[in-house]
Amino acid sequence: MTSGRVYLVGAGPGDPELLTVKANRLLTEADVILHDGLVGEELLASLPAAALEDVGKRNTDRRTTQEAINERMVELAAAGKRVVRLKGGDPFVFGRGGEEARYLAEHGVPVEIVPGVTSALAVPGVVGIPATDRDHASQVTIVTGHEDPAKDESRVDWGRLAGFDGTIIVLMGVGKLPEYTAALLEAGMEPETPVAMIERGTLPEQLMVRATLATIVEHAREIEPPAITVIGSVVDVTELVEGVLAC
Ligand code: SAH
Repeated sequence: MTSGRVYLVGAGPGDPELLTVKANRLLTEADVILHDGLVGEELLASLPAAALEDVGKRNTDRRTTQEAINERMVELAAAGKRVVRLKGGDPFVFGRGGEEARYLAEHGVPVEIVPGVTSALAVPGVVGIPATDRDHASQVTIVTGHEDPAKDESRVDWGRLAGFDGTIIVLMGVGKLPEYTAALLEAGMEPETPVAMIERGTLPEQLMVRATLATIVEHAREIEPPAITVIGSVVDVTELVEGVLAC
């Protein structure tokens, strides 16, 4: 029916050099690149401008817009276009990539997934925080900080996470930082637990704040999205790694 196809491509955390070789090739070959607002500016500037279409969902009605993105992908593929759907980090880590892949499959559009370097691990990594440092953590969990811990519909069980013996990595966790740190403390997590927040990791404006579970809210007032919160003793490893604290 169509010769078009959609590549769901991860753009990495922001530094254009953290794009995969495959993503780079597909971007140069694409007829249309549908991208979000999250992707770093330097990366965007290096892409063929004529092919770019910004479908970022900021300040808009998310539901309608997601539907519009889905329809646009199908429309372009039906017209025989090679479409790159470019997403920050990895398309399947809080990127709604699963939803988009399902929609495309249901509409008979061939889709290929091109994994990307996820900010969840790469952003702590560039500041010297090893998510599973052998001496500190044998497990890591990646959660969204976007849901209000006080609400019943929150699917992240902060009470249980307070007893998690490993590293907790929170994405989309700036706005609700006071709520989820309070929930962890209330459930008995050690107030001295080290916490780091890294804003715009791998980009020139990268900024890091380190404190403890009890003090991070007052220290992180200047932190703005996008940022990653890392909770756990691996945060202290940064002190030992030379040359990575230039942020
Ligand atoms: N699919 C993406 C995540 C999308 S959710 C990935 O795999 O990286 C968006 C969240 O990702 C942001 O709220 C923030 O928590 C995180 N994020 C993405 N890029 C980031 C960066 N360069 N620095 C810090 N956090 C980042």
